[in-house]
Amino acid sequence: MRSAAWLLTSGAAFASAASLADVCTSSYAKAHLPTTASYEGITIDKSSLTAQAFYNEPFTGSVMYPNATISYCNVTFAYSHNGLNDQVLVTYWLPSPSEFQDRFLATGGGGLAINSGNSSVAGGIPYGAAAGLTDGGFGSFSNSWDTVFPLANGTANWPAVYNFGYQSIHEMTVLGQAFTKSFYGTNSTKLFSYYQGCSEGGREGWSQVQRFADQFDGVITGAPAFRYAFQQVQHLYSNIVEQTLNYYPPPCELAEIVNLTIAACDPLDGKTDGVVARSDLCKLHFNINSTLGKPYSCAASSATSMMGPPAPASPAQNGTVSAKGIEVAATILHGLRNSQGQQVYFNYQPGATFADAQTEYDATTDSWTLDQSGLGAEWVERYLMLQNASLLPTLNGVTYDTLQAWITQGLQMYTDSLETTWPDLTPFQKAGGKVLHYHGESDNSIPTASSVRYHESVRKVMYPDMSYNASNAALNEWYRLYLIPGAAHCGPNPLQPNGPFPQTNLQVMIDWVEKGVEPTTLNATVLQGEHLGQNQQVCQWPLRPLYVGGEMQCVYDQASIDTWHYDLDAFKVPIY
Ligand code: CA
Repeated sequence: MRSAAWLLTSGAAFASAASLADVCTSSYAKAHLPTTASYEGITIDKSSLTAQAFYNEPFTGSVMYPNATISYCNVTFAYSHNGLNDQVLVTYWLPSPSEFQDRFLATGGGGLAINSGNSSVAGGIPYGAAAGLTDGGFGSFSNSWDTVFPLANGTANWPAVYNFGYQSIHEMTVLGQAFTKSFYGTNSTKLFSYYQGCSEGGREGWSQVQRFADQFDGVITGAPAFRYAFQQVQHLYSNIVEQTLNYYPPPCELAEIVNLTIAACDPLDGKTDGVVARSDLCKLHFNINSTLGKPYSCAASSATSMMGPPAPASPAQNGTVSAKGIEVAATILHGLRNSQGQQVYFNYQPGATFADAQTEYDATTDSWTLDQSGLGAEWVERYLMLQNASLLPTLNGVTYDTLQAWITQGLQMYTDSLETTWPDLTPFQKAGGKVLHYHGESDNSIPTASSVRYHESVRKVMYPDMSYNASNAALNEWYRLYLIPGAAHCGPNPLQPNGPFPQTNLQVMIDWVEKGVEPTTLNATVLQGEHLGQNQQVCQWPLRPLYVGGEMQCVYDQASIDTWHYDLDAFKVPIY
């Protein structure tokens, strides 16, 4: 076996001939850490570094990456920001030198987490990419942002806001790129850099594209949680609809409305396969009042406390869809409007489940009651009110106008850190960057129209003098948006199992960046049900899928496109 000392002094050609065991030692990794010159203001704590090799581990069950067996070196170390008494942890998974293909993959998190544990970082290894994740300085990789915010009631932790907003992913990437080149001895070779993330991870991807023009060659953003001030308050909108209309529907009633919506709208795309590939046609042609009086039935459930707060037992639910239930569903689908009738925001597409509207059974009164949306309530209580709590004390007195006021407050507090809708991407475009942006059309957590709105904002801001078609063509040269038929939030939808999911995005992006192979339709795969493994192609926005004679076409349909755009006339400032 060659010694580490031999490797420390040898060049690139030797490093590439080394084995994983040769390079996966703390001494080798320490000797190849980025120099302080690679990032001003950061000091790496060399003594914190650990390196451990893993061999032939299964990597399965990801909807973002195909199954693989991977071997890699896990290198973890800490750094601090000069002048701050802080500590940020970063982890890099590095493939064997013989499998390294001059690629780096940055990964992000979801919800209030800035990383996805091992579930995203593993995705780089099959593509010969070193991959990285960060803890955001939150104390450990398993701590989320809310563990360090607020510092005390009434005192915001601003460094943590910016670390979460964009800074930590940026630092993890810059340090990771330098470390990767040094680790493999490829300082003079082009390192192709990619990012992939969904939900909060999608927002994090955009946070980099908007600020750091030449950091990534290709960025894959799924269902991004951007327009953050709106997005998080939006989670509370369904609760306020229920409170305002004074009706708390049994979950089974809303589930039946969803099932009937899917059944009615499935064929509108020309193919009866259980998938609503055209939620826009559903919006145009489905009358939700047709669900009135339809029976629903759900079995009793026992109490659970496996995930999150304990859910009490609920009784069997039997009944028929009521006018009140329909009114709640229809009002939710219209999106938030203020007391003046002005549009404040938009909601999920018809066919998505009403996850935010879930009610809770109260055994003492034998009735269904308000159940605060966790993400929405925590946003307001913790990040707007600066209280160390995850729920609001009450929603009593909260109106549609209150929600608008909370959105405005969020915009004023967090526009430069979390909002993440800066629409002029000229520096990124000029640097040659590519973006692949996708969003499930039945997403029940982040409105699909949110992605359409941002894409439209970029188009209008960057190509103001071009026609609609010409500007979309220009945008598509480097930024493409795909709506995934039937897909839920960052994954396949159990209610529409025959819909596809784009599991091979990183391969698509690598081919686009490194080989110039432009995606036209987006490659996707059915990941569940009787058609498991079936390949499907997804149309590129603004074209929409339509099956004619059993063949999918991507068609231009102005009336359908128009349903995706909202005039947010409740605001006098531009909302990108
Ligand atoms: Ca269909």
